[in-house]
Amino acid sequence: MTEAERQQIYNLRLKGVGYKAIAALLGKSRDTVRIFCKQNGLDGDAKVVALNVKEQMKNHVLCSSCGKLLKQKGRGRIRKFCSDECRRKWWNKNPQVRKKRETAIYNYTCPQCEKTFSCYGNKKRKFCSHDCYIKYRFWSEEDGI
Ligand SMILES: [Zn+2]
Ligand SMILES: [Zn+2]
Repeated sequence: MTEAERQQIYNLRLKGVGYKAIAALLGKSRDTVRIFCKQNGLDGDAKVVALNVKEQMKNHVLCSSCGKLLKQKGRGRIRKFCSDECRRKWWNKNPQVRKKRETAIYNYTCPQCEKTFSCYGNKKRKFCSHDCYIKYRFWSEEDGI
C-alpha cells in the first residue's frame, strides 16, 4: 500500500464509501482494503470513521488541518501539520487557542524599578531582572543607595 493509496482510503472512508467501491477504485482486493481499514480505525460507518480520524489527529497520526497522513521524523518535535499552509489555516480557524496562550503571559510591575514587564507562564516571577532582585533583596533605604 503506497502512502497515496492510504490517503485515498482515509478520504473515501470519511465520505462513507464502502470497501468494495474503494477496492475497485484502487484496483485492490476487497479484503486488502477491509484489513487495512480495520487496522487503521477506518472500519464501521462514516461517523465512526470521522471520530477515529479526529482521535488520530489528536495523536498526530494525521494532519490536524487537512487529515493527511503525517510523516513523523521519530525525533525532535512532533509534527501536527503536514505543511506550513495547514498550520496557518488551522490557527486561523482556532483563534481561541491562541487567546488561551496569550492569557498565560502575566504582567508584572517590578518592585525595584517599577517597570512593567510580561513573563510567559511564570507566576512566581517578581522582578524584571536579577539585578533588580539583588538590589531589592539586599539593599535597603537605610544603607543609602
Ligand atoms: Zn495538512
Ligand atoms: Zn526592575
